[in-house]
Order: sequence, then C-alpha cells, then structure tokens
Amino acid sequence: MGENSAHEKLHVDIVTMPVDEELDWIKDDLDVPVLCLRGIVVFPNNVLPLLVGREKSIAALEEAMDNERQILLVAQKTEDTEEPTMKDLFSVGTIAEIKQLVKLPDGTIKIVVEGLKRAKIIDFVQDDPFYSASYELVEEKNVKGIEITALMRAVLTKFESYIKVNRKIPLEVMNTLVNEELPGRLADLIVSHMSLKLKDQQELLEILEPWERLEELYKIIGREVEIFEVEREIHGRVRKQIEKTQKEYYLREQLKAIKEELGSDDAAEIEDYQEKIAKADLPEVVEEKALKEVRRLEYLPANAAESGVIRTYLDAILELPWNDVSDEELDLARAEEILNEDHYGLEDMKERIIEYLAVRKLSPKMKSPILCLIGAPGVGKTSLGRSVARAVNREFVRLSLGGVRDEAEIRGHRRTYIGARPGRVINAMRDAGAKNPVFLLDEIDKMSSDFRGDPASALLEVLDPEQNGTFTDHYLEVPFDLSKVMFITTANVAHTIPRPLLDRMEVMEIPGYTEEEKVQIALRHLISKQMEEHGLNEKNISISESAIKMIVQNYTREAGVRNLEREIGTIFRKVAKDVVKGKETLSRITAQNLKKYLGITKFHYDKSALKDRVGVVTGLAYTQVGGDILDIEVAVVKGEGKLTLTGQLGDVMKESAQAALSYARTKREELGLPEDFHTKYDIHIHVPEGAVPKDGPSAGITITTAIISALSNRPVRGDLAMTGEITLRGRVLPVGGIKTKVLAAHRAGIKTIILPKENERHIEEIPSAAKKELEFILAEHMDEVLDVAMSRGEESENK
Ligand code: ADP
Repeated sequence: MGENSAHEKLHVDIVTMPVDEELDWIKDDLDVPVLCLRGIVVFPNNVLPLLVGREKSIAALEEAMDNERQILLVAQKTEDTEEPTMKDLFSVGTIAEIKQLVKLPDGTIKIVVEGLKRAKIIDFVQDDPFYSASYELVEEKNVKGIEITALMRAVLTKFESYIKVNRKIPLEVMNTLVNEELPGRLADLIVSHMSLKLKDQQELLEILEPWERLEELYKIIGREVEIFEVEREIHGRVRKQIEKTQKEYYLREQLKAIKEELGSDDAAEIEDYQEKIAKADLPEVVEEKALKEVRRLEYLPANAAESGVIRTYLDAILELPWNDVSDEELDLARAEEILNEDHYGLEDMKERIIEYLAVRKLSPKMKSPILCLIGAPGVGKTSLGRSVARAVNREFVRLSLGGVRDEAEIRGHRRTYIGARPGRVINAMRDAGAKNPVFLLDEIDKMSSDFRGDPASALLEVLDPEQNGTFTDHYLEVPFDLSKVMFITTANVAHTIPRPLLDRMEVMEIPGYTEEEKVQIALRHLISKQMEEHGLNEKNISISESAIKMIVQNYTREAGVRNLEREIGTIFRKVAKDVVKGKETLSRITAQNLKKYLGITKFHYDKSALKDRVGVVTGLAYTQVGGDILDIEVAVVKGEGKLTLTGQLGDVMKESAQAALSYARTKREELGLPEDFHTKYDIHIHVPEGAVPKDGPSAGITITTAIISALSNRPVRGDLAMTGEITLRGRVLPVGGIKTKVLAAHRAGIKTIILPKENERHIEEIPSAAKKELEFILAEHMDEVLDVAMSRGEESENK
C-alpha cells in the first residue's frame, strides 16, 4: 500500500458508517492512531466536525481509515505546539469513529467524528509518520438513586437558565436532555453544547465518576450563568450610555437644523441685547444684572420656556427710562398762564400750585411734599394734574388706585410666578418715558388692603423721598430711582386715606362749583373741547348760555362738571349726526329746544321740598360725590319710649340721636313738650336717600330740631338747611366741609343756612354768586337754632 492508495482513499469524499452499529470492534490494548486536538475536547456521544491540516494528523487519519476508522482524540495542553510530544498531551482522551471524511481543495481535510468512549493513554507507541498509542477504555458506570436523580434535575434546571441567558443554544436541546437516563452521559451531552474553556472541558473529561462529573458541571454552569448575567448587565449599562450620548448628539443636531430652518439666529439676538445694554447707559447694578441674564439666555436652547421669560425681562429693563429726563421749565409766569388757560376759577388752587412750584424752584434739592387734591368727581383734579405737567414741561402719567388691594399691583410679582410682570408704578414710568414725569396717583382713598398685602405701605415707599430713590420692584429686582418724579395724588374724601399717607401730603380741597361757575366752565372750556372732539365748528352749532344754565339746573346735580360735560357731549353727538346726514344750517341750542337733544329734564326744582313741615328738617351732608342736602324725618307715636333709627345710619349718627333726645328732655318744659314723652312715645328717626353714607356728627342739630318739631307739633321752615354738632347741653360745635355743603344747599334752592358760630370764617370761602343769594345764621346754642327754624310756626299751613 503506497502513497497512491492512500491518495485514492482520501479522494473518496464522504465515507459514512451506520450510526447504531455495535461497538464490539473497539479493541482494548491495541495501538490506535492518535489525533492531537487543539483547543477542543471531544466527549463520548458527541458528534462534531473537525478540520485537519497537520501532516502527522492526516497520516493518522489515513491509518484509521484503513483500520476500522478508529482514532484516539487527545487534546494538546497548549494550542500552539506544532509538534507535540507526549508530555504536551493530556493523558485522557476519547476513542472516536470517523463518520465522514472530506478533502477540501486547499489540502486540508474535514472530518466528522463521533466520540465513543473515554480512553486512558497507557503509552505512546510511535510518533512518526503519525502518533499512535496504547490505551485502556473506561466503561461508563450506570449509577442510580434519588440523590442522582435530584442532581440530574438540578443540573438540567441550571442548564436551562444557562440557555436562557446565553441564547445561542436553541431551547429544543432541553427535550433530548430530559430523556437521558445515564448521569455521566447527561453530563457529557450538556458539555458538548456549552462553549467552555479547554481546561474546564478536559477536567470534566477526566472525571470518570459520573455523579462527581455532574456535580462539577453544576458548579461550572452556575459560574457561567453568573458571568453571563454580569456581562449582560455591563453590556446594558454601556449600551445605555452610548444610546444617551447618541440621542443627545442627535437631538442637538436636530435643534441646530430647526433653528437654521426658522432663521432664528441666537447669536445675533444675544449680540443685539449686549449692544442695547451697552447703549442704554444703565446704572451699574442694573447693567450687571442685565448682562447676567443675557448670559443665561445664551446657554439656554432657543425654545426653552425659560428663555421667553428672560427675554421679557430684558425688554422690560431696556424699556425703562433709567436716564432720560425731560428738561424742566420753571417759569412761574408761564406756568400761571397755562393753569389759567386750562381752568376756570379754582383761584386758590392755582395760587397754591404756583407757590408750590416757586418753592421747588428756589430750593430744588428740598424734598417737597406731595400735593393731594381732594374733591368730588369732575371738579378737575385730574385735569389740574395734567395742567401742572404742561406748565412745568414734564411728561404726565396717571395711575388709578381705585380697587387696588394687592401689594403686587404696586410693586410687581416676583419672577418665579408664571406670567409675572412689573408693578403698575414701574409700568407707568415706562409709559412716561422720562425719569421725572408728573405722576398722578388717582383715587388714593379707594385702595383697600387684604391678605395679599397692604398696597398702602408699598405706596408709602413710593412716595417717601427718603426711600423712593431706590424703589425696588419685585419683578425687576433692581432699584429704580423715583426721586425725580413729581407725585400728585387725588381723592374724593380725606378720611378714608390711610393716615400715614395723609401725613406725607399737602392736602388741597376743591369744593365744587356754583351754578354760575359751571356755566362759565362750560362756555369757556367744555364747549370748545367737545367741538374739537366731535370735529364740529361755530358754523355747525351754537349753544346759548340759557341752555347751559338749564342743563346745570335740570339735567345734572353734582359738585363737579363731569355730567355737564357728558350732556354737552350728547348734544354734540346728535348735531354731528345731523351734519353727517347733510344738514348745513347752524344748529342753535337754546333752553327752549334743549328737550329735543337731551330728552325730558332729569331733576327739577322740587318746590314742595321747600315747604314748611312738622318733623322734617333739611340737613347738609358731605359725601363721596361732594356736598348734598338730606332730609331728616322724625315720627312720634304713642308707645313706651323706644328709639328707632332707619336708613342705614352709622354709629356716630346714632349717638347724635341719643344726644338730641337727652337735650330735648332737659328742655322739656321750656319747649312745651309732652310730659314723660321719653316713656310714653316711640320716636322713629329716618334719613331717606339710601345710598349715601350718613355718618358723622354734623347732623346733630338737624336731628334735634326734627325731634322737637315732631314732639311739639310745630313746623320747621322748608327753605332752611342746617349743619352742626350738638353737645348734651345744647352747645353747637363746628363741622367740616362748609363750602361744599353750602354750595349743595344753594343748588337745591335753600335760602337760609344755619351754621355753627365757629365756622364763621369759612363763609368767606364761599363764591360770592352763592353768598349773595343766601342768608347765613351763626348759632352757638341750640336755642338759637330752634328760634330760627320754627320761627314761622303758627303761620304754617301744614300744621
Ligand atoms: P376729577 O379728576 O376731579 O374727577 P376731571 O379732572 O376728570 O375731574 O374733570 C372732568 C372734566 O371737567 C374735565 O374735562 C376737566 O377738564 C373739566 N373741568 C373741571 N374743572 C374745570 C375747570 N375749573 N375749568 C375747566 N375745566 C374743568
């Protein structure tokens, strides 16, 4: 048998043997060719392909093919030994049968072997042209018992979990394994599916005791599962990290693309802000703060909600007049001219404003007090403020405080609030556009405070010259200088202004106008103003003085001229409509045709109100809307001395009623009042005219007169009105608001007015037009009041 025949045999591509052939041909103690394996151990019952390339190995295969196809497979201790000697090989291997043999084009041979039995090498017989060795077969023992079964199951379970983590092994493998009865063979089968290190494989091969081998395998699988799990965890972590980085990168790129697409250029915006801030010449702290915000903006992605907030803030800062000042003009003559130009009458007021300006001019450094204009609606408070601004050539802003109850309205919300914005003071400053405007705080008496904080105290800070140089709005967070502002406040009444505020201010009362004054205001100011507003001229409309007078008397009842202006406005609107419709002739408005424009009269001279009556006395009141007259009515009925008061009267008014009763009792005989009237009669005091507040002691003498009139059944003069406080002894004490009250009485057609003697000096203030038509009686004691009030007693038809 030469080279040729070997070649011939090898040329046969596939040689197959029947699988279930008996193994009795395996011969002990004979020599067999040895195939040295690199990095692999073949177990009995294990079928697997091998690639053979070394010359000696090919020679061994040839020999085996001639000799029952039997070959001893032994693993090398180290893979890279090309020509292993005996000591390079393990001493336990597997006798295998070559099932297939294929010669590959590159000269190597692919074989499929099936492991048959373990074999211990006894000795190497030759090492050329191939290795051969004598060996001893190891018979696989079949051990049985509960422990073995349990161990087999445990190993199977463990292996199942190995499959689950490994995933390279199909789960079906388990099906064949569970049916294996031999413990040793089970171990060998399992090993063949696992990819273990050579050392582990060889170790398992060398354990001949089946259950020892299973135990060892159990340990190894356990370890492998653990390693897999840790590995998987590490892998997961790494993958997550990579995913995150990738995702961020991806998003950032996307964002960039979106920004580019939208054409929003962040960098340009940031630069723009920086430039604006540099140009704005802001105070140092403000500039620092603004630049800090710009830096924050830079780091935020363009569409972050936060960046919108920052932009709004920066815009708010940049809109404020940090340094802009309008040049003040303090020419007193010019100022006076302007005040006169804008307003009729109000001589005191104008004089005091001029004085105020003069003081400012003389000592500009001096912190001047704040003007507070008090008066009924429509007496010209706001327009005076506007005039002052014009007179000193400053900007004018107005802030109405009516109904403000939240401190944040004055001082702003902190930026942490959603939708926060600066307070109204800062907003007004922005509108003013200059640091030194005339700032009118309207309706300062209408502020209220509640749980949201006290706006009055915030306002105090605004008005206080010591503090307002660094007024800090919650939103801005940086101080704004209000010290150059000229504040003017207005109110309808003084007594509801918070005391600390009132103390800061120089109060000026505007009392209201007489009929004649109103007519003049209309003729000189209101008509021309309306003419302009409605786009009309003298060719379209003329209003006679008598018409104005009629409006004043029969269409309005007020201290100011607001309704008068409104009624005139109504006339102008109607005329404007006619003009638009094509009317070219002049519309003459007179007292006779006024009805056509304004409808029927709203108020008329109530002659019956001026009649003498029993138990009804006209008092004078001072209310939110100016002066007013109010009738106090007293009814006396038989009873047991009860005192009833109706008409929503305040406590002070009730005390006045008690005082009046006490006085009446001390004077009972003198006045001819019924005996024991305070126990035999019920007295009911009523003040009609629901809505106006009627508190205050100034109705004292009025109530007393009404009670005595009712008890004595003597009428009181209807064309008479009175005001004054009363003591228990009947002394008449002075009261406030005389001018306003007297004007209201005059409007109502009253002829005689009883005033406390101590109020005498106030009569001077009353416009002469009204003074001429009135008779004043100054009383020190109640006796004098009664003398005058019931002087016509017996003549009255009402008796
Ligand atoms: P207030 O602020 O006191 O409620 P306004 O200032 O709004 O009153 O005045 C109402 C209207 O009456 C304005 O058009 C104002 O110009 C006008 N007015 C008030 N008093 C005078 C006056 N003395 N001379 C000219 N116009 C006046």
